[in-house]
Order: sequence, then C-alpha cells, then structure tokens
Amino acid sequence: MKPELFKYLIQCKELYDDEIFLSKFNSNPNNVDNLPISDIDVLNNINVLKNEVKNCYKCSLSASRTNTVFGYGDFNASLMIVGEAPGQQEDLSGNPFVGRAGKLLDKMLTAINRSREKDVFICNVLKCRPPENRDPTLHEIKECEPYLVNQIDLIKPKLIVALGRVAGKTLLGVDKSLKDMREEIHNYHDFDLIVTYHPAALLRNPNWKPEAWNDFKWIRSLID
Ligand code: URA
Repeated sequence: MKPELFKYLIQCKELYDDEIFLSKFNSNPNNVDNLPISDIDVLNNINVLKNEVKNCYKCSLSASRTNTVFGYGDFNASLMIVGEAPGQQEDLSGNPFVGRAGKLLDKMLTAINRSREKDVFICNVLKCRPPENRDPTLHEIKECEPYLVNQIDLIKPKLIVALGRVAGKTLLGVDKSLKDMREEIHNYHDFDLIVTYHPAALLRNPNWKPEAWNDFKWIRSLID
C-alpha cells in the first residue's frame, strides 16, 4: 500500500473511527490512490469540515433535518456551483441537487463538458433544509456561510457560480434582482463569482433557457 494512502486511512480511523469515507466522495472524483500527498491533505481537511457540518447544531435547522448536505464533487474542481439550500430530496439523500432541478443542472454541465465527477463541486449556502423550502434567514446564513467559505478556500475554484437570486444576493450581500446580478464578474472572498438562473426556475420558465445557455457558454470560456 502507498505510504500516503496508509497515512490517509490512519487519519480517517482517528477522525471517524470505523466510518471511513471511501464511498462516493473518494471513489470517483477524488481517487486517493492517484493523489499527490498535498491533495490528500486537502481531502483530509475537506473530510474534517464535512464531519463538522454533520455535527453542527448552530441553528434550529439541525432539529428538522434528516441529513446535512455538505456538497459533492471533485475537490480539485475549477468550477464551484452554489445553490441556496437543500430541498426535500437533498435532505433525504444527503446529496445536493438530486431532484428534477439537479437533473437539468447535470445536463447543462454535460453541455460544457463537465460533470459532478469532473472538475465541478456542487454545494449550497445552507447545509440543512429550511422547512417548506422557505428562504434562509439571516441567522441561518450567518451561522452556515463560514462552512462555504472554508469549502471555497480548500477547493480554490477558478470560478464560483451562484444559482438563482437568493444564492446570488446572499453571497453578494445585496438586495438586487437576478437581472442586475447576471452577466457580471463579482468578487466573493477574493474568488470570481457570477450569478445565473436556478435550474428550478428554468423548469418553471423554459423560455429563460437560451439566456441560461449563454451564461453556461460564458462559464465554459472562463474556466477552460
Ligand atoms: N435547490 C438548491 O438550491 N439546492 C439544492 O441542493 C437543490 C435544490
């Protein structure tokens, strides 16, 4: 066994006892066997953060959640997609964007030659589902946003894409319409951020799809 893999397994054992993260997170996008040691450290830090989120009780959403939804994807990704908060299916599965909106997001990623396993990390501003999918409160954002900032600092994406008005205005700290936030490169904690349509909005209003596709072509040009 490679020494770095051995080190990783020992650290997992120390952190999580028998619950070693060799399932989804490490299997495909982040295959430990092929990683240089610096990447293994990042993966360890991500798993530490994931465990912190899993044990977070800083706001009342911890009482109603089924699962925390940390995020999923390639931790070496150049593209980080950030939604608003998990919905019902995400809460049940523990993974982001698994419902109909997620399927559309997957199609849009495929169209720019990316996927959740390849060069993309997907997460949300909030890691727990707000009841009835209501908008996040200021208190929930204040408590949860540092997890997102940590994720960004570890993954260091070339570009962050906020999906929808709520994610956009939350991250930018402004009360603007989606129209006023689109088609501009913003700064979020020293990373480039753009705002585009939420795929759920595209399902409700398919006539917005051409504009969303323009945004995705622009996204591809920014990260290629
Ligand atoms: N909508 C979001 O904003 N995030 C999800 O994970 C699912 C739906």
